[in-house]
Amino acid sequence: MINLVTGGAGFIGSNLVSELINKGEKVICLDDLSTGDINNFENLKNNSNFNFIEHDIINPIKIKTDKIWHFACPASPKKYQVDPIKTSKTCYLGTINMLQLAKENKAKFLFASSSEIYGISKKFPQSENYLGYVNSTGIRSCYTEGKRIGESLCFDFYRKYNLDIKVARIFNTYGPGMNKNDGRLISNFIVQALSNKELTIYGDGKQTRSFCYIDDLVEGLLKLMDYSDTLLLNLGSDTEISILEVAKLIIEMVNPKLNWIYLPLPEDDPIRRKPDIKLAYSKIGWSPRIDINEGLRNTIKHLMK
Ligand code: UDP
Repeated sequence: MINLVTGGAGFIGSNLVSELINKGEKVICLDDLSTGDINNFENLKNNSNFNFIEHDIINPIKIKTDKIWHFACPASPKKYQVDPIKTSKTCYLGTINMLQLAKENKAKFLFASSSEIYGISKKFPQSENYLGYVNSTGIRSCYTEGKRIGESLCFDFYRKYNLDIKVARIFNTYGPGMNKNDGRLISNFIVQALSNKELTIYGDGKQTRSFCYIDDLVEGLLKLMDYSDTLLLNLGSDTEISILEVAKLIIEMVNPKLNWIYLPLPEDDPIRRKPDIKLAYSKIGWSPRIDINEGLRNTIKHLMK
């Protein structure tokens, strides 16, 4: 089995690549290294099951593969807003190119979608049949609409060419492998705490997220890919926590003397986000296991290096 992982040098992609290699599978990683980090593969350099190709998926490419794991796209708001038009192109052209490749190879295709597709949700928890409440003109729209067109393309390829499609709507994920400059909450807070700086809380800190540890997420992705039919699922933790509570946990773990400051809340920042994961449990027998205290401790260790 040859696995093609697009965005394989990124946070989730590189953790998935390691797990596939641990299982003895062959992996080709495709990444343009715009936000991914080649150093994530230091220990795979001499592994004959691993291959790296530097390539931007907005351009088509021919590769022999059995399974495509399509993760390529900057995922942190800070990163995907740097060049929003490029983000939209990556989501649209990149996903078409990878679906075309799946069609040519008759490969299984897993698309990394996002909780972002629910937008500024009016429903809690968010279940897969909720259609979302989305701003199509805001600063997050390139990513929100990008992931929505990605899903739409997946299902059109399924209906038209009977492609075997899996869509994972991934909720906030954290853990070892996160880049120090990623710009998302948990890496920001840990890096700030480790350098004795005040933690930057955007807004009043009462907004919530549900943070899933990376090993749990990768397990869910593997199970989803193994499912016998086309399937769309939420994958994430259903333990909701406020941003202020996350700050307090990290301060407690790193240095209880630290404090935080309040900064303006970015535009369209969702106020509550929590997945309904009953479908994942009933279809693939998956639910996350690692609690946030253990997950944060592991992530702090990783970011100290
Ligand atoms: N956030 C924050 N301080 C930071 C980074 C993020 O308060 O230094 C907040 C952000 O406004 C959002 C939440 O943390 O409400 C999660 O942000 P993140 O960028 O991790 O991802 P999002 O879930 O918004 O895509």
